[in-house]
Amino acid sequence: MAVPGPLIGVSCHYDVSRQTWQLGEAYAAAVYRAGGLPVALLPGDAGAAEELIKRLDGIILAGGVDVDPVHWGEEPQAGCGEIVPAADTFELALARCSLQWGKPLLGICRGMQILNVAAGGSLYQDINTQLTGVLKHSQQAPRSYATHRIFLAEGTLLGRLLGCRELRVNSFHHQAVRRLAEGFQVTARAADGVIEALEHPALPFVIGVQFHPEAMWQESPLFLELFTGLVRASRGESVF
Ligand code: MN
Repeated sequence: MAVPGPLIGVSCHYDVSRQTWQLGEAYAAAVYRAGGLPVALLPGDAGAAEELIKRLDGIILAGGVDVDPVHWGEEPQAGCGEIVPAADTFELALARCSLQWGKPLLGICRGMQILNVAAGGSLYQDINTQLTGVLKHSQQAPRSYATHRIFLAEGTLLGRLLGCRELRVNSFHHQAVRRLAEGFQVTARAADGVIEALEHPALPFVIGVQFHPEAMWQESPLFLELFTGLVRASRGESVF
């Protein structure tokens, strides 16, 4: 590598049975391929989150389990799944500091939901019980296989990165963004109206996607654009 890549912090997922923080290899592979240096972020307190954000060039909030509805002021409904309190508080702090410092950020699945909650938005705890006529968003198919379409808004960072108005994506979620956080814009929806992507138009690169591009880029190179865009922005370069 001629020029050292920017440091991209990636949040980890907690395996309760092994009491272990872990990170899927696909995230690191995508960051390396895009020209960045991935760093796994192990949860600490809000002060640790702030120090990490200061030192990192960019951040990926990765996929994981459900977000505790207490963070948007709700009691848990029966359809709410597993929660990891330490991951919630750490990642919410990472997202808030990132926004405050204007750091490039890519939120993936749970990561997009964390981003929205950190900025004051809310989530559906379980779209299958709270919405009617929803598509199957918890696909039972290989992770790299796209099962439903999304429709992208025109003139957005995401639309420019992906260069299309309609795309097939994978889907592994039963929570979804409900009330959009102030300052954010919806950039893609599924055919049932479920929010599939958002971004912060006033910041250089803050994107959330409900699908999993890290599981798709090896077979569909277009999805790598999300990571190359993040790495470019993290270098302080223009995204396009
Ligand atoms: Mn979906």
